[in-house]
Amino acid sequence: MKQKRFLLEESELPREWYNIQAEMPTKPIPSIHPQTRQPLGVDDLAQIFPRECCVQELDTEHAWIPIPEEVLEKYKYYRSTPLVRAYALEEALGTPAHIYYKNESACPLGSHKINSALPQCYYAKQEGTTNVTTETGAGQWGAALSYAASVFGLEAAVYQVKISMQQKPYRSSIMRTFGAAVTGSPSMSTRAGKDIITRDPRHSGSLGTAISEAIELATTTPGCKYTLGSVLNHVALHQTVIGLEAEKQMAKAGEYPDVVIACFGGGSNFGGLAFPFMRHNLTGEKQTKFIAAEPESCPKLTRGQFRYDFGDEAGYTPLLPMFTLGHDFKPANIHAGGLRYHGAGVIVSQLLKDGMMSGVDIPQTETFEAGLLFARTEGIIPAPESSHAIAATIREAEKCRQTGEEKVILFNLSGHGLIDMTAYEQFLNGDLVNYQLSDDEIANRLEKMDF
Ligand SMILES: *Cc1c(COP(=O)(O)O)cnc(C)c1O
Repeated sequence: MKQKRFLLEESELPREWYNIQAEMPTKPIPSIHPQTRQPLGVDDLAQIFPRECCVQELDTEHAWIPIPEEVLEKYKYYRSTPLVRAYALEEALGTPAHIYYKNESACPLGSHKINSALPQCYYAKQEGTTNVTTETGAGQWGAALSYAASVFGLEAAVYQVKISMQQKPYRSSIMRTFGAAVTGSPSMSTRAGKDIITRDPRHSGSLGTAISEAIELATTTPGCKYTLGSVLNHVALHQTVIGLEAEKQMAKAGEYPDVVIACFGGGSNFGGLAFPFMRHNLTGEKQTKFIAAEPESCPKLTRGQFRYDFGDEAGYTPLLPMFTLGHDFKPANIHAGGLRYHGAGVIVSQLLKDGMMSGVDIPQTETFEAGLLFARTEGIIPAPESSHAIAATIREAEKCRQTGEEKVILFNLSGHGLIDMTAYEQFLNGDLVNYQLSDDEIANRLEKMDF
């Protein structure tokens, strides 16, 4: 009998996260303060985020950061997640490739996001913080944060994009189940929200409005810190448990990946899986290919520009050096809500610039076709975000079918799609469309940025 699932013993779980910043051939250029134009320091960031996260954010020295014992204890509730050989998918594709996936959909709340929500809440608690706040669009991050906050005895206040709250009511019920206070954004509970509503009483909300409200709450409430579920370096750092486990699990399977693939929103699940493998490319030991799969309608990696830009629509964050489509870029309303983000994290942007990885953009209908094939073969309904990774994997596997190469492909199943059934319903009814952007649309928006 061929082994299909590979798991780790508790004693084999990673005890450190991997900080690729310490080993990159070209370190990222610093993020800067929008007014002073000075490189950002820990003190600047610590006004908003838990201090230890800020230290990790800017750490370009230590390649290995110990996972606190208390976080490790919580990881043990659900880690390791399975590494699975996708025999049925391989067979359906008729490919000689060996396809493996790391199943992060088996995490609490159904996605990888909990891996960073736990340490962020732990550090907040350690520092005497009593409340955490954040924004959420589709709700995956808000749900993970709400659970992690309850684990460490913190109050959580989540600003959810108003339109998502109406379209996906179950997501707010999930957050409230864990005790979080959920507010539709824009709301009347903050200055920023009141201003937005005064200007436009029917504003349906965006991640930009929700970030503004959450940051305002954090900066005006004693004992309250803001948390973020993607984009930032410390979030990708926490997610490296995925790749570190996968490396050991691949060894149990007697293989090492030729190609590593993950979907891409801000870069945390991609970095989490890819960075631990990439460290062997950096030393010249291996030549694995790394592919980040993004939506065709939000192509910052394949068609964006490398420059300083804000991390949010309102312009509250520092200026980050990144591949971007412009912070006021409004992605089409695709179902992969977690990938509707205008920019790429700082580390990944530098790695892309240096040719250490590549991006690929995928039309929405192709991602759903891929998701459906995966569901029917492997028995897990993937999140629409994860289906981008599956589609990119299928493209690679088909190349192997043509060339006869037995490549080993590893992708991240970042989450399941069981609360995305309206999206599947629309696809099955033939109602989903693709959104292509013209070069002019992209260029116009980037030209408008004059800072
Ligand atoms: C949030 C999310 C993503 C995208 O975020 P990254 O930081 O790019 O990983 C991908 N998949 C799922 C299931 C998500 O919830």
